[in-house]
Amino acid sequence: MNVPLTIGEFLERAALVYGDRVGVVDEPDVTGSLGRLTYGELHDRARAMAVGFDAMGIRPGERIAIVSPNSARFLISYFGVSGFGRIFVPVNYRLTADEIGYIVEHSGTSVVLYDPELDEIASRVTSAKWIRLDGIQDAELFDPERGRRTDPVGWSPDEDATCSINYTSGTTSRPKGVQLTHRNCWLNAASFGWHMGVSDRDVLLHTLPMFHANGWGMPYAMTAMGGRHVVQRKIDGEVILTRVAQDQVTLMCAAPAVVASILAAAEERRSTGRDLPEQVVRIVVAGAPPPSKTIERVEGELGWEFVQIYGLTETSPLLTVNRAPAEWDDIDPAERARRLSRAGVPAVGVKMAISPDGEVLARSNHVFEGYWQQPAESDQALEGGWFHTGDGGYHEGPYTVITDRKKDVIITGGENVSSIEVEDVLYQHEAVSEVAVIGVPDEKWGESVLALVVLRQGASATEQDLIDHCRERMAHFKAPRSVEIRDALARTATGKLQKYKLRQPYWEGRDRQVN
Ligand code: AMP
Repeated sequence: MNVPLTIGEFLERAALVYGDRVGVVDEPDVTGSLGRLTYGELHDRARAMAVGFDAMGIRPGERIAIVSPNSARFLISYFGVSGFGRIFVPVNYRLTADEIGYIVEHSGTSVVLYDPELDEIASRVTSAKWIRLDGIQDAELFDPERGRRTDPVGWSPDEDATCSINYTSGTTSRPKGVQLTHRNCWLNAASFGWHMGVSDRDVLLHTLPMFHANGWGMPYAMTAMGGRHVVQRKIDGEVILTRVAQDQVTLMCAAPAVVASILAAAEERRSTGRDLPEQVVRIVVAGAPPPSKTIERVEGELGWEFVQIYGLTETSPLLTVNRAPAEWDDIDPAERARRLSRAGVPAVGVKMAISPDGEVLARSNHVFEGYWQQPAESDQALEGGWFHTGDGGYHEGPYTVITDRKKDVIITGGENVSSIEVEDVLYQHEAVSEVAVIGVPDEKWGESVLALVVLRQGASATEQDLIDHCRERMAHFKAPRSVEIRDALARTATGKLQKYKLRQPYWEGRDRQVN
């Protein structure tokens, strides 16, 4: 028998088995908060969405986007959209109207669901129908009664159909649409849930943006098992600590910058004599290699279990996992932290390799179908039957260690920034003659964006002018945090910039060139 692996069945199961249990606790005190919903209600609302899209004449295979911070509606939409055969396009809500407009058009999206905080962007993007997630404009779309009363038209479940298109900044100036199939997402969720031992007793705090690789797929795994979701809309270390105790949180996924904010809040509590939560949390970190000191502090000061995973949006994302085996139970904390600072061993169903020139390669059922409408880029990424990660690294026994990034991407606060995109924007400034954008180590954000700029002869611009120029034209997290004006940028004999050389002085004394 071959039953298609489609993600809609995760919520079907949760509603069947745990229908009366609270499935999600929405962020309180925001416009249209849904409060606490049972799995039965989540299911009814997901069905209502499908009925609503049927009524709008939107067929399976068509694209529905969402631009929103984390919310219960976002969680429902994973299932209300993909679960009924439509393709979900979760978009980073920190992007500008121009960037969001590009994604909406490139993906051919019919409907965009958007958070009330983004009214201005909604008014500026003219393509697609925009629905405000405020409990008024979207009341019918999420009406549980309608979901109970009416059956969606449905689709013929196909595990190879596209489940979501997740746009990611890469080595081109425009983001690329990563096409993940149901099979990719299903198997990633199963493998991730397996490695993390997810059960119906778990409570997941959403400290990762739901748009980022579908919250790395953990929302699927948690729903399938009937665990509870707790929505966290904005990152704030103190609020995270409060929720951990209040909602008995057991699991979270986060970028290293989030971990830093939790540790800072814990330190603040200790210095003012306040208690830390007693709750033991498994915290899964990815996006950049976390410093081993951070790992030691998470385990020592918070008493939480630290787990690292490595992957990319293109791999759904789980490739490797580093969760301490029993053999490490009694080793010295500093050595344990050092071991945990490596990306990890292959997850079940994944094969890892290193190419002769040091690039990390992977094969797995989680590896994507291709970039939406970019066949040449897709072929290149999948050349030779291996996925080319663009990361540099080596193997230490079965462990993969990430040391370097071969692609021109900077990762700041867990989000990718394409250097080329920032360079393009800087070149639009009339005073700029040459520019190289690189990532440099940053205490808070892991890496920060630095622009090295040569000005045109006779032209003048201050560093702040150039930063402002970028901030007006691109998402603020992508704009350079600093600019250095130079007389010249060193080039090779053939006139090429050697970014690794430009980066070198900033990374001196470190054993890795990524942070
Ligand atoms: P994204 O597709 O936005 O999730 O970004 C994927 C990139 O994040 C990878 O190609 C790596 O450069 C980086 N990354 C993710 N996890 C890790 C990790 N555990 N250690 C080092 N780099 C990581």
